[in-house]
Amino acid sequence: MNFDQNNQVTRSPQFWFEDGSVVLQAESTQFRVHFGVLGNYIPFFEGMADSSFPQPEGEPTVEGAPVMTLHDSAEDVKHMLTALYTDRYESENAIPLDAVAAMLRMGDKYMIPYLQHRGRSALVKEFPSKLEEFRKTMFAPGIDCTAGSGISDLNLDQEPGNILKIIRLALRHNLERILPAVLGVPAFKGVKYILRMGNTDPLSPFARGWEGVCLLGRENLFDAYDWQFRWVMGLGVRDSCSSKEQCAEASIRLTHRLWRPKPDVRRMYQSWQSFKAEGTIGNAVGRLCPACMQWANDSFDEAGNVFWSQFPAYFGREPWI
Ligand SMILES: [Zn+2]
Repeated sequence: MNFDQNNQVTRSPQFWFEDGSVVLQAESTQFRVHFGVLGNYIPFFEGMADSSFPQPEGEPTVEGAPVMTLHDSAEDVKHMLTALYTDRYESENAIPLDAVAAMLRMGDKYMIPYLQHRGRSALVKEFPSKLEEFRKTMFAPGIDCTAGSGISDLNLDQEPGNILKIIRLALRHNLERILPAVLGVPAFKGVKYILRMGNTDPLSPFARGWEGVCLLGRENLFDAYDWQFRWVMGLGVRDSCSSKEQCAEASIRLTHRLWRPKPDVRRMYQSWQSFKAEGTIGNAVGRLCPACMQWANDSFDEAGNVFWSQFPAYFGREPWI
């Protein structure tokens, strides 16, 4: 059998090297690449010299190069070769979601540590488990969920269904650690967003199940909010306060801002600096006596850390590891 004459098959425009020693075929696309390059990354190809691959009689070849059929999509193979041959998917770059998924699939299937690591690190970077990193990503106030540091085309505002894609990847590739941050996106954004996420696949029990997890998580956020900001009630009433009237007034202003007309749960992961950056809040905090100011700051930080350690439990997940 000779693929040279086969019109059904097309050659990859990016990955067809004239000196390639092996042809990988996925679906109807062929990629002519090098045993030597593959062998650097893929244990299966390790030690196969470019010239000495034993080619049994009667097996397909293209211009003398053996053809290996892969039972993968052509798109996955293209992403894999892009990662192995070019610097486009190197660790400093944010990479497309499809490429992340392809690297995890191909990495696990062919046991390619480089691809496994690269796919996982993109997701972990995008959905961190440390509060300081979480604040810097898409969740920072005023930052859209358009392009993140790990994945270049998440576009979560317009594509809430991408949340479900990420959840599937996390479950399939043993990335439980990213799930709380992933589930946090819809939980912080609100009920309408959560329903849009599920509506991308209305008949899927998978989507409905995770919609429920996010709704419960949002409910838990609201319950935790009251606890997290309870320190506001203590302003102006503690013995150490040197300006009780003024601090009590600040307490009332803060109470209004934090609970009326309704809590904004995005405040829960803010730093003290960005919390104070909101005008009304900054003005009220600025009027506190030194003792109340210090107490507010300490209480805020402490409650923020407790919030973050509890965060996975809001979604029924295991504690951060
Ligand atoms: Zn005071």
